[in-house]
Amino acid sequence: MSDITIALSKGRIFEDTIPFLQAAGIIPSDDPGSSRKLIIGTNRPDVRLVMVRATDVPTYVQYGAADLGVAGKDVLLEHDGIGLYQPLDLKIARCRMMVAVRDDYDYASAVFRGARLRVATKYVKTARSHFAAKGMHVDLIKLYGSMELAPLVDLADAIVDLVSTGSTLKANHLHAVEEIMPISARLIANQAALKLKNTTIQPLLEAFSAAIPENP
Ligand code: ATP
Ligand code: MG
Repeated sequence: MSDITIALSKGRIFEDTIPFLQAAGIIPSDDPGSSRKLIIGTNRPDVRLVMVRATDVPTYVQYGAADLGVAGKDVLLEHDGIGLYQPLDLKIARCRMMVAVRDDYDYASAVFRGARLRVATKYVKTARSHFAAKGMHVDLIKLYGSMELAPLVDLADAIVDLVSTGSTLKANHLHAVEEIMPISARLIANQAALKLKNTTIQPLLEAFSAAIPENP
């Protein structure tokens, strides 16, 4: 039996992953929401969890510091996925990658005129390929959070961000004008670990797969 390390991030990814862990007979020994521990043991002596930033999950798995991880498609698209395998869409942490503008901004006419848009986002790669596919010229402005502020202070004409209910957009007098793609979290695996630790990982994959919500 091999030891398995699973990389997770605090918050919704951790919460939404608990049922999958449970299905695989894994119960975390601490709640990362209240514990300051970065390495969390489980009821299974061969399985431990490491708590990292959402954007760092692919990096830990890529280098084999974690064998498995759970990461949003948004994060995976921005990461160079060398050495990463994505065996399962867990259909959790679902939201949409959207283009949004201020309520008083006429996006359709800007697109029609071929205006050069200033776009603020954390998701530079995703935004670049979206607007390139539309044949639009954009200046991308990299931000690390609170994208909604950018159009309000005239840093940008538009933002590319994750939207679930739209209430944050609404509260800031913004609205979505285009959906780029639906987003959900994926189980990711280190390619070498998948081969070398197959006898331990395979049953985990099967348990996770069986626990994917059917009509999420
Ligand atoms: P941090 O908050 O540490 O800066 P983060 O914003 O990437 O990092 P979370 O907000 O926990 O961390 O988001 C983790 C993942 O959850 C995202 O990568 C995305 O896939 C998904 N997610 C983000 N926002 C939503 C949302 N509103 N609804 C559903 N899923 C979301
Ligand atoms: Mg966040």
